[in-house]
Amino acid sequence: MRNQLAEVLIAKGIKNDHVLNAVRAIPRHLFMDSSFEDHAYQDKAFPIAANQTISQPYTVAFQTELLEVNKGDKILEIGTGSGYQTAVLLEIGAVVYSIERQKELFKRTNLFLPKLGYRPKRLIFGDGYKGLPEEAPFDGIIVTAGAPFVPKPLLSQLKIGGKLVIPVGDTSQVMTLYTRKSEKEFEKKELGSFRFVPLLEDKN
Ligand code: SAH
Repeated sequence: MRNQLAEVLIAKGIKNDHVLNAVRAIPRHLFMDSSFEDHAYQDKAFPIAANQTISQPYTVAFQTELLEVNKGDKILEIGTGSGYQTAVLLEIGAVVYSIERQKELFKRTNLFLPKLGYRPKRLIFGDGYKGLPEEAPFDGIIVTAGAPFVPKPLLSQLKIGGKLVIPVGDTSQVMTLYTRKSEKEFEKKELGSFRFVPLLEDKN
């Protein structure tokens, strides 16, 4: 079923073998509520705890492909959620830091990932709008919730040459890729429309 899911992603335009091999390797059904596990290898998002979702595999693959992750790259994820995206990054050999603002999800995923042998460098319970200044700079930052605007700290925590992949918008989001060209210059590309749960600010 995992191989079939990878074929579906290939048909939708995913090309990166590291990303596809990660999809072939990861038991997605274990990242989901057991009532949905029969559907785990469909290319769909599903509900997880705390009113959140596990992203659609195509979205995970698309965002990861845009990041152009190499083995050993230091990557920050905003929105740990189920940990599936975290696992994809770890399969590719990245050193992963991931922030989640829902305590319940943070606790659950923190216990769950090591059971499958996935060891992020750090999972953090906190607010992703701030990034993770004490561990910056990063080769890549991936935001897995819909951001109403691009948080400045995330741009400033990129290495020169580093990439930020962030869905920007309120009800639907434009996938946006920023590449840091120099201390002050960023290249911006917009890459299609997606739908995410919102990146919540602390006041919410
Ligand atoms: N990468 C996840 C996607 C989960 S959905 C997966 O593959 O399952 C997005 C996640 O972002 C949710 O878990 C939500 O709680 C979290 N989130 C929302 N606002 C946030 C914020 N300000 N900081 C960190 N995480 C946030």
